Amino acid sequence: MAVAKFDIPEMKDDIEIPKLREGAMSHIKSFPAPEKVQDFMGYPHELGEDWKERAIDKMGELLGKYRSLKVFLDACVHCGACTDKCHYYLGTSDPKNMPVARQDLMRQVYRRYFTTAGKLFPKLVGAKDLTQDILGDWYNYYHQCSECRRCSVYCPYGIDTAEITMAGREILNHVGMGQKYSNEILGKVQKIGNNLGLPGPALIDTLEGLEEDIEADTGVAVKIPLDVKGAEVLFITPSADYFAEPHVESLMGYAKVFHAAGISWTMSSHASEAGNFGLFNGNYETMRAVAMRIRDAALELGCKRIVVGECGHAWRVAYSFWNTLTGIGYGADDPFSVELQKQLDHNYPQPQHICELTNDLIKSGKIKVDPSLNDDLVVTYHDSCNVARASRMGTEPGGQFIIPRELIKSVVNNYHDMADGTIGEATFCCGGGGGVLTDDLLEVRVKGALPRATALNNVVKEHKVNFMAMICAICKAQFTKVLPMYGFDMSMVGGVHQLVSKAIKLEKAE
Ligand code: SF4
Ligand code: SF4
Repeated sequence: MAVAKFDIPEMKDDIEIPKLREGAMSHIKSFPAPEKVQDFMGYPHELGEDWKERAIDKMGELLGKYRSLKVFLDACVHCGACTDKCHYYLGTSDPKNMPVARQDLMRQVYRRYFTTAGKLFPKLVGAKDLTQDILGDWYNYYHQCSECRRCSVYCPYGIDTAEITMAGREILNHVGMGQKYSNEILGKVQKIGNNLGLPGPALIDTLEGLEEDIEADTGVAVKIPLDVKGAEVLFITPSADYFAEPHVESLMGYAKVFHAAGISWTMSSHASEAGNFGLFNGNYETMRAVAMRIRDAALELGCKRIVVGECGHAWRVAYSFWNTLTGIGYGADDPFSVELQKQLDHNYPQPQHICELTNDLIKSGKIKVDPSLNDDLVVTYHDSCNVARASRMGTEPGGQFIIPRELIKSVVNNYHDMADGTIGEATFCCGGGGGVLTDDLLEVRVKGALPRATALNNVVKEHKVNFMAMICAICKAQFTKVLPMYGFDMSMVGGVHQLVSKAIKLEKAE
């Protein structure tokens, strides 16, 4: 498929605020979802005559359903604090990629149809009729937002542009303007069980191949079990872990951890995907349909614990939404959730992140590691947005920053953080999250990665960092593709459990 040529931004010593270039990214248009994909999702595939009415009705429905959306649309005072906080603005110079401007694309329409001042004096309050041009801007610029929430950290009112983006995409879907990439994936996961459309037999083959690789490498027969009834842990991980590089290295690391700790575990062919693109589309029914496969698998296999692998948005959905969506964790009270609550072992967090599990096992001495086995590496850590700003880990505030770093430092001897203001709560998105990880948005992805690439480059120059660890499948896929365009070697991108995998000590059977 032909991809438009574009300039790769120049990496400077510091992250600079660019001069405005009006319309710099207005040519970007993510491929629209074809008819059969929209049909499957229950959306129209083209604008009907009543598109405007449908859009306004949907907006009204969302405003009624999500109070936060109304508050965010009402509360902005245009103070400007968020304007230079979005990686897409920093990388593209397009003013419509400023968070406040992205919000205003919807706010102007909201004011026109849902506020008295906007109905009576539209010009005075910047209210505008919804037109096809505005709808086109929504499509372009709501697919140039990775829903990373960095802007909300700097907004004095906590306005979350990601929620406005999600609402925008939900309305676009309802008028027949769905995005091919996200909606195709949502179709595959609901039909087959994972985002890649990998059927059960192919999954079995893949896992057996990885078992052989581990045994060839270590001399130890480590199993990667699938659909084992009665296993203690149901392990849910992104499907990229099954075959993509460097993701598989982490999958082998998880398997070694379970093996070394003697924990019985299984993956599920029915729920072979941790990712949940329902979040990206802002459609809670779709998000629930995807998450329900995990509850079904937990009930079917009778597992006592649910552990989640390295995936940023999957962890956000698991940590922040599974309880009310599916009854994993507390919240839902339907009979299946009640049954699941009785089945799960509440001595453990439900769900639990794999980093927390591994970190606890190392700290308690239940598994042994030798950090010198990673002495060829000088490591830094990229906080993935959904973990950093939309979830937690462990029991302490900030655990989502502390636990992965503790874990890394227990398996490597050489570690350096990137600069403050680019990590932790202020972390820069990889540039490919939130439904942007598609080649038809490659220009957006490459330019949006500029702030992270700049921060990385500084620790490479200062500390000779040669490995950036992360716990997100999307970040891994994005960085391996775009960092080489900034001159980095793609092998410097990898998972935290890739490091664990190298350092862990496995006992050979007598
Ligand atoms: S990509 Fe992130 S920083 Fe930019 S507008 Fe969206 S949520 Fe805000
Ligand atoms: S920081 Fe908040 S209030 Fe200020 S312009 Fe941005 S969204 Fe509006």
